[in-house]
Amino acid sequence: MKEIPRATARRLPLYYRYLHNFKNMGKTRISSSELSDAIKVDSATIRRDFSHFGALGKRGYGYDVEALLDFFSRQLYQDRLTTVALIGVGNLGNALLNYNFKRTNNIRIGAAFDINPEIVGTVHSGVPVYPMSELKERIQEMEILIAIMTVPEKVAQDTVSELGEAGIQGILNFTPVVLDVPEDIHVQNVDLANELQTLIYYIGNRNGNNKKK
Ligand code: ATP
Repeated sequence: MKEIPRATARRLPLYYRYLHNFKNMGKTRISSSELSDAIKVDSATIRRDFSHFGALGKRGYGYDVEALLDFFSRQLYQDRLTTVALIGVGNLGNALLNYNFKRTNNIRIGAAFDINPEIVGTVHSGVPVYPMSELKERIQEMEILIAIMTVPEKVAQDTVSELGEAGIQGILNFTPVVLDVPEDIHVQNVDLANELQTLIYYIGNRNGNNKKK
């Protein structure tokens, strides 16, 4: 299948989650406008998103919830457990290790890595912490393709090279660094400070705090 637009890909988990809710509510069929009301994405966008996957619904009938859920489940590999790694067991890394991804998604952190000898060899929230020197070996042994990166900013770019050499294909980047990655590595950035700053900007503007006194 040819690659779908990134914006569509970002909405897939949302579709999946809400279809799950609809199924739990006993709904068997859903229209794009019902889905639109629930997830607050306009129905034209939803239809366009779905059209990338071929004929998923029938005109005038709507979408079959079970079939759609099954389809998105396979698209998101939710029908199997995905094991990911975490690099950098600091404050944020620990919070993520402690977070139960599996409660709502079929994802678990299977291995963590750090350079601090005091942390290496310990188990955090049930996840073993290995030294960076074992990165490649462990990642290949566990067939891990995705890494969550919570290392300090100054080592972020170097860590990318190590991850690439280990065979990692996807990075969830929690550092504020704009990473330079080869074409075969996908990056999703989660910059918490950035998100907050954007909110501060909006709220500040709304309240007129930026007006010159
Ligand atoms: P956070 O930024 O998550 O709040 P922190 O302030 O506790 O973390 P940082 O200095 O940001 O700590 O480091 C996060 C973790 O990354 C630490 O446990 C540190 O030992 C680890 N770390 C530092 N350099 C590397 C590296 N090159 N490779 C892997 N882990 C590293």
